[in-house]
Amino acid sequence: MASLFHFKKYFCSKKAFQRTVGLNVTVLALLFVSFNVAHPEWGFWAHKRINRLAVFRLPPEMQVFYKRNIDFITENAVNPDRRRYAVVGEAERHFIDLDVYGDSALHILPRFWNEAVRRIGEDSLRKHGIVPWHIQIGAFQLTQALKEKDARRILRLSADLGHYIADAHVPLHTTRNYNGQLTKQEGIHGFWESRLPELFAQDYDLWIGKAVYRENVAAVAWETVRDSHAAMDSVLLFEKKLTAEFPANKKYSYELRNNVLTRTYSLEFSTKYHQMLDHQVERRMKASVKMVADIWFTCWVNAGQPDLSTMKDFSFTESDRKAEQSESQSWIRKLFQIRPESDD
Ligand SMILES: [Zn+2]
Repeated sequence: MASLFHFKKYFCSKKAFQRTVGLNVTVLALLFVSFNVAHPEWGFWAHKRINRLAVFRLPPEMQVFYKRNIDFITENAVNPDRRRYAVVGEAERHFIDLDVYGDSALHILPRFWNEAVRRIGEDSLRKHGIVPWHIQIGAFQLTQALKEKDARRILRLSADLGHYIADAHVPLHTTRNYNGQLTKQEGIHGFWESRLPELFAQDYDLWIGKAVYRENVAAVAWETVRDSHAAMDSVLLFEKKLTAEFPANKKYSYELRNNVLTRTYSLEFSTKYHQMLDHQVERRMKASVKMVADIWFTCWVNAGQPDLSTMKDFSFTESDRKAEQSESQSWIRKLFQIRPESDD
């Protein structure tokens, strides 16, 4: 939470801070994710890119609606992160600490939520993350919304589901050592999921062809966290190995970000690490795009392939937009526990 303290300090007074919150929630939300907080994420850029590219993999019968609303699905790819520290029950949807359950976690853990609650208990499950189960819940909700042809819910749930699926592809989202804090590698999470894509993703080949139907969403969700977990060792080991070989004074550099001088992994260190990972970030990002589109498509098929062309003229109204803005504002307010009536 120290980073949040610095964030607040960045504003010259509490009053200025509150005024800025009121005026520009979007900018604040963008700023807030660039700070190191518990269980950080794929960067905002990657989440948006994944949702956007997934739309292009859909069949024409879905694109007629999804493509028209592609900006909403792109922009709202990051909503679950914006609300994760403000909405009870949100944070645990983004990860699963598999190692908490021992070496046989993937064999022991029940595939379905109800059985998992029965055998392990809901509090314990939520404490260690629930992403593979929440993907199934999200897919069920999206299928229902598609059956009901509820345009607002379809778009919101698709954007959210894209986010959780992408998170499940991040190796460090499957371990309690999520930021290298147990192995003296603090910062590695943001390094892998933000710094590397920012520097190198322009060269990634993320095109993967059209969406395919997935018979068993639960199995796909669990295969995803299994593959992420299998990739985790190299994420940590390569960084440790490179750090040992690399001149200590060249590992980090300083960059101006949002007018704050920020310590970051140097270009030289990042390039070397990226080479050692041998396209790992690209593979996980590409797999995210594939699964997001596959699951959206699967939900549509399971909903009976509703005719989405009847909603092709749907767009969010001004009051929808205002409601969304005030919701985002409330997340930010809760995050900083601001009392609007108070003043310095
Ligand atoms: Zn997330």
